[in-house]
Amino acid sequence: MSIAENVASIRSAMAQAAREAGRDPGEVKLCAATKMNDADAVRQAIAAGVDLCGENRVQELTEKLRQNAYQGAPIHFIGHLQTNKVRQVVGKVDLIQSVGSEHLLSAIDREARKQGIRQDILLEVNIGSEESKTGFAAGDILPLIDKIDSFPNICVRGLMAIPPISQNPGDNLKFFLKMRQIYVDIRAKKNDNVSVDCLSMGMSGDFADAIRAGSTMIRVGTAIFGARSY
Ligand SMILES: *Cc1c(COP(=O)(O)O)cnc(C)c1O
Repeated sequence: MSIAENVASIRSAMAQAAREAGRDPGEVKLCAATKMNDADAVRQAIAAGVDLCGENRVQELTEKLRQNAYQGAPIHFIGHLQTNKVRQVVGKVDLIQSVGSEHLLSAIDREARKQGIRQDILLEVNIGSEESKTGFAAGDILPLIDKIDSFPNICVRGLMAIPPISQNPGDNLKFFLKMRQIYVDIRAKKNDNVSVDCLSMGMSGDFADAIRAGSTMIRVGTAIFGARSY
């Protein structure tokens, strides 16, 4: 299957899941998770109509920007970001999805202030409470939103989660529903630098359940590009 065929079949599965949930298929964006795929593959995915690209590694982001791989498509940073690399990402991407600590939040805020911009971000939630994962605890999100004014150079656009690796289809639905609840709660908040419209959840193996639970953005790698060779 070509990248274009893969994108077409994902689009139809997305539309079906949305309709089953009584949602408008146009409410859900498709982010191509491009890690380990080269500029040519990225260009093919964009030509096939993905809405945006998500990059995991600073080095790959920098290289693909240099190669003009993204062709003007929106770019999100979706990987683990170390504070010492913040300068290479802030202002270079439209949105940073993987903001999972106050330490990182303040580093991004400081860099955005230096650059004179406001950086859009998502708060990453460790929704499965996994020891091995970064991200805010679910219970930390609302208190954080209440003091988000202390980071005036960021704008919180929503939430992102990577649920535990599951053995059975359907395992992650409960986590997706929990994310949906936090999303609804923070949407109700009124702060200057909170403008929530993005709930980023669902990957190749579980995006249909994520959409049924309310996802507004799925991040898909393998189902678009094939298995990654590490
Ligand atoms: C790789 C990756 C994805 C996509 O995973 P697939 O299972 O290949 O679709 C989504 N989100 C993040 C943060 C990733 O690193």
